[in-house]
Amino acid sequence: MEWNMGRSPQGKLPDEIFGKELIRYDYRPELIPSAETTDVGMWRYRALLPIDEQRVRFPLPIGGTPLRAAAALRSRLGLPRLWLKDETAGAISSNKDRATALVLEIGLRSGASTITTSSTGNAGVATAWGAATVGLSAAIFTPADCDPEKVAVMRAAGAHVFRVARGYRAAFDLSRAAAREFGWLDRNTGANPVTIEAKKTVAFEIWEQLERHLPDVVVAPVGDGPTLVGLAKGFHELRACGMTSTVPRIIGVQAEGCQPLVRQWRGLPPRPPETVRTIADGIRVPVPAVGEQAVRAVTDSAGAFVAVSDDELRSAMAYLANDAATASEPAGAAALAGARRAMWKSFVDAGETVVALVTGKPFHGGAFSGRPGSEALISGDLDEFREVWRQVRAHHLEHFVP
Ligand SMILES: *Cc1c(COP(=O)(O)O)cnc(C)c1O
Repeated sequence: MEWNMGRSPQGKLPDEIFGKELIRYDYRPELIPSAETTDVGMWRYRALLPIDEQRVRFPLPIGGTPLRAAAALRSRLGLPRLWLKDETAGAISSNKDRATALVLEIGLRSGASTITTSSTGNAGVATAWGAATVGLSAAIFTPADCDPEKVAVMRAAGAHVFRVARGYRAAFDLSRAAAREFGWLDRNTGANPVTIEAKKTVAFEIWEQLERHLPDVVVAPVGDGPTLVGLAKGFHELRACGMTSTVPRIIGVQAEGCQPLVRQWRGLPPRPPETVRTIADGIRVPVPAVGEQAVRAVTDSAGAFVAVSDDELRSAMAYLANDAATASEPAGAAALAGARRAMWKSFVDAGETVVALVTGKPFHGGAFSGRPGSEALISGDLDEFREVWRQVRAHHLEHFVP
């Protein structure tokens, strides 16, 4: 075998991109499933996940999402080798399924009883539904302006939802503080490195679905960053295992009204969080949890960051619906909008193989019953939360703690 091709040796992950906090493995070819392996979905890659060989307990199908070659969309955009990696095809309709499932799987193995996360919406929906499916309680912290339909879906699954007046960053800090204080399973994206382990499996699937070839470019929306950092880690692990010799260029997409990493990548100063405004709630994140790693991963791959307007998001949603029969929400269509913009800016050539992630669509949930959730509007202060939580427990929680 050839070692030391390119900038970082096979068998190793480049610390200068990923830092030292992320999970490492003893990389070798046997960790990648052979083409004959019949396991489907995310657990196919369990040799590169932080779980042992026990039977998987999480009951919903996870990962193994389709890579679509939408002909009408290809000709409309002038990208004849465009592929859509459709993450909305999973059990809970967003790119939050994988991380939720892996954190819950680890929690089930260690006997956790409550899971918490902060969320702009979809991570909360996935966590509420995943927790309900396996009989755990869920405490979800959202910004106060979280989409009411998403809050309703969380509650329908029995989650306790805390809408935090001080916004998403405060919700993130409070969820983490509560996890430490009450010993809850912490699913906070990026902060828990397991979330990145789950999301990297998208890269493995893309490579396998392209018959063990890499695309030239992968386009991903960026909110907190784990989707992009996970992709990059997955491609670097394929290389570390000796499957590939390069990694694709990665293009990160943010909304014009919330583009901290686009600005950082261009060397511009950050804008104050209160100026944030976009219809794409899934990427409305003024202070991304793993922003530094995301910028380093994009730069290392010779990729780029682009920002798209709300109008471009709306057209991308319409293209996905009309040309690819794929429903999406604004953040879910952001990568496609970003692929168009990247073409205009010559970050992508028409002849290249381009994979755009579709990351979310509206999820209405089904009929859960007997697990009444709760909802409270709080400031973001830990002392106040302790008191609210005491009351929630006193009045509701005993009905459905497993
Ligand atoms: C969370 C989310 C994203 C962004 O993912 P990050 O890993 O936070 O960068 C993109 N699209 C949708 C629909 C999301 O819910």
